Amino acid sequence: MISRNQQLFERSQKYIPGGVNSPVRAFKSVGGTPVFFRRGKGAHVWDADDKTYIDYVGSWGPLILGHAHPEVIEAVEAAAQNGLTFGAPTEAELEIAELLCKLVSSIEQVRLVSSGTEATMSAIRLARGYTSRNRIIKFEGCYHGHDDALLVKAGSGALTFGHPSSAGVPEETASSTMVLDYNDLAGVEQAFNQFGDKIAAVIVEPVAGNMNLVAPKPGFLAGIRELCTKHGSVLIFDEVMTGFRVGLECAQGLFGIKPDLTTLGKVIGGGMPMAAFGGRRNIMQCLAPVGAVYQAGTLSGNPVAVAAGLATLKQVQAPRFYENLAASTRQLTEGLAGAAKKHDIDFCAQAVGGMFGLYFRNNLPSSYAEVMGCDREAFNRFFHAMLREGIYFAPSAFEAGFVSAAHGETEISDTLAAAERIFSAWSLESRNG
Ligand SMILES: *Cc1c(COP(=O)(O)O)cnc(C)c1O
Repeated sequence: MISRNQQLFERSQKYIPGGVNSPVRAFKSVGGTPVFFRRGKGAHVWDADDKTYIDYVGSWGPLILGHAHPEVIEAVEAAAQNGLTFGAPTEAELEIAELLCKLVSSIEQVRLVSSGTEATMSAIRLARGYTSRNRIIKFEGCYHGHDDALLVKAGSGALTFGHPSSAGVPEETASSTMVLDYNDLAGVEQAFNQFGDKIAAVIVEPVAGNMNLVAPKPGFLAGIRELCTKHGSVLIFDEVMTGFRVGLECAQGLFGIKPDLTTLGKVIGGGMPMAAFGGRRNIMQCLAPVGAVYQAGTLSGNPVAVAAGLATLKQVQAPRFYENLAASTRQLTEGLAGAAKKHDIDFCAQAVGGMFGLYFRNNLPSSYAEVMGCDREAFNRFFHAMLREGIYFAPSAFEAGFVSAAHGETEISDTLAAAERIFSAWSLESRNG
């Protein structure tokens, strides 16, 4: 019998390219049919065939409180009753701007937008306008949304300029972007030595979460900070994923480094389309209507999205919120690594706050190349076996995972028990040849 998920996916492909509104949803990397979600509550989601899963994707990061948190839903409903959008200032958007500036000390002024892509695109334009320079540096494996200037991969050899990583991105645009290796501070130094006075900005995920999870080596972020200061370039921390995911002061608080600009998204919208960019006042003052850098949005600061964001940010300020979240996440990664070790499977895992990485290799990767060296087939097998067990991990070996405050002891131990069954079956299989 063909499942409702399969039926829906077949129909979808007729009307939506690839059947999805964002590529990773199509399960291309792991194979099989994507799961169509019908409902979510807390740590759980239900698919079109009414199968239940423990969800470790959380809509790719926003759902730090889990699905349909009662206070977030209540705030959204109340805001909606008063009108969906005005395209004019509201008190609530001022309230969230004040809160973001209070919680993140590097942010003196902030502007709201509707997606992470808009936030990074605007931050890049602002950095270029502020410095009157064009070139930017990004790192291989970091994702900053789908702005042309950031859909760029490394050229051949160090210090060559980037090439488009997507059709439709002009070579001229890509060629202003230099793509360096994550965690390679010497590479950044060399780039600055050669092109320092031309570099408008360095944009970096302070914990890389779009190539599985890669943590910054000690000194990497601090070294970039120093070079940017020395050469008058703008340091942009893309915290769309890490912002309020790894701690209340975001990744910059965790590592004690102040970027010039920060981009936020995901958690700050609480599941609604909202993102932001902000930072030093003298840079933010370059934005229209004060300054000459144009940036705008019909739905920017949307009242319903702002209400969801405020309700979410209220919850994460509760005492010990991040300690508890980090403890659950660590319990998951340590448990998975323990189960794999017991059965002699090449696997490791790590957590940073409420995000985690799973790797089918022996030690933690520190670069894109090392992530690419993971056993992808093992991951795909693991993914599908866990899916059958009712555990929904990201459908790709190159995405970080997320734990929410709604993931309790039961969900974590059910997940670990499922992994134990799978790894145990694998080891039996390999022993029986
Ligand atoms: C998700 C993400 C983006 C893009 O945000 P969208 O809302 O999907 O446009 C940008 N940067 C990082 C680090 C992200 O994780």
